[in-house]
Amino acid sequence: MNVQPNSMEARDKAYHLHSYTNARALEKDGALVMDRGEGIYVYDTNGKQYIEGMAGLWSVGVGFGENRLVEAAAKQMAKLPYYHTFTARAHGPSIELAEKLIQMAPVPMSKAYFTNSGSEANDTAVKMVWYRSNALGKPEKKKIISRIKGYHGVTVASASLTGLPNNHRSFDLPIAGVFHTSCPHYRAFKLEGEDEAAFVARCVKELEDLIIKEGPETVAAFIGEPVMGAGGVIVPPAGYWDAIQKILKKYDILLIADEVICGFGRTGNMFGTTTYEMQPDIMTLSKQISSSYQPISALLINENVYQPLADESAKIGTFGHGVTAAGHPVASAVALENIAIIEERDLVGNVKALAPKFQGRIKALESHPLVIEGRGVGLIGAIELKPRDGFAAGQLGSKLFSIMVEKGLISRAIGDSLAFCPPMIITEAQVDTIFDTVEASLDVLQKQLS
Ligand code: PLP
Repeated sequence: MNVQPNSMEARDKAYHLHSYTNARALEKDGALVMDRGEGIYVYDTNGKQYIEGMAGLWSVGVGFGENRLVEAAAKQMAKLPYYHTFTARAHGPSIELAEKLIQMAPVPMSKAYFTNSGSEANDTAVKMVWYRSNALGKPEKKKIISRIKGYHGVTVASASLTGLPNNHRSFDLPIAGVFHTSCPHYRAFKLEGEDEAAFVARCVKELEDLIIKEGPETVAAFIGEPVMGAGGVIVPPAGYWDAIQKILKKYDILLIADEVICGFGRTGNMFGTTTYEMQPDIMTLSKQISSSYQPISALLINENVYQPLADESAKIGTFGHGVTAAGHPVASAVALENIAIIEERDLVGNVKALAPKFQGRIKALESHPLVIEGRGVGLIGAIELKPRDGFAAGQLGSKLFSIMVEKGLISRAIGDSLAFCPPMIITEAQVDTIFDTVEASLDVLQKQLS
């Protein structure tokens, strides 16, 4: 990248430490600086247009430049720019949003609780689970089971839940009491000759073995994304969630559905919980709740969680948890308007209608010599590149990512998988443009390799 002195790129290099970035490489190469967005497109500081094939971070569901959200924010900012929900205070937007979320919930839920990020929501879920076990007089029931390749965030507890090595390495994580069971990626982890049903049975047995080894009376909850996102878009095989839930019921273990990516339409239903017939006790929501126009996240908890928690707060005198900006009035107002847009424009219907085209084009890429698998559901998917001698894991993925960026398409490289999760307002023609670009980029990569 040709970085001009005093440009945004140069100042970024000078002053800004980035998330999920090799800091030394950034010192040399600089960042891609975005300037504005419109619909499914973003534009960098040189005016170059990109399709945001990841909707930012799996999140800008209604697309960029949605004026209704700008107006909702401005209106609330002028009326009551801040108030909190500590010590029995409230404000209109947080009340309305809590009510709306409980009404929308795909399974009976009792209360909504607000936080600011997916990580905070999952950290809060862990604390609620511990608090509940103490309330129930089961102080030994505290362990939480997550999955290899699951992604639940980066704060101390949620990074521990995350099952990816780079979230643990050199951070001294995971914390005690968090365990990771098998990842339900059939193609990657099946044994020789093992069919899908046998693979599911093995995943479930590995979970049950872990519960028995740890002692069922010590295991409090299991957390999972309906579809794993940041682990590489891993769609569970048929029957997986049903069989997992039977084990959880058998041992009285709560289910936390991390809907941070799946929530608000991504899988073709409003929630991934519906797509996979899950019955969670806790749901964590973020990202598409506000299309990320404002930072906000929420937990929905059922009676089974709320009642003991309420009892414990009465015993202690308070539920001693909460962050300053939780349920922020501007963020809540934007979330309410965002959900109204998703409903009025039937964006979930758009996901459902375009899913066959989107998934069909991903699957068709399996015939490309560089691709080992295309997978996904709704409007989320990934292609995975075949391993190749002489290339370390992730090297080809990052090469393909760069070629696509050059061609004006932003995806996300996860090792040698490239993920796609465009804004839910996308049209059929735009889906074709994405995958025409992916095809052309694969051909460029193949030429480079030959
Ligand atoms: N859970 C899931 C499923 C996610 O994909 C993410 C972020 O990508 C998180 C939790 C963490 O959310 P945040 O980055 O807002 O902390």
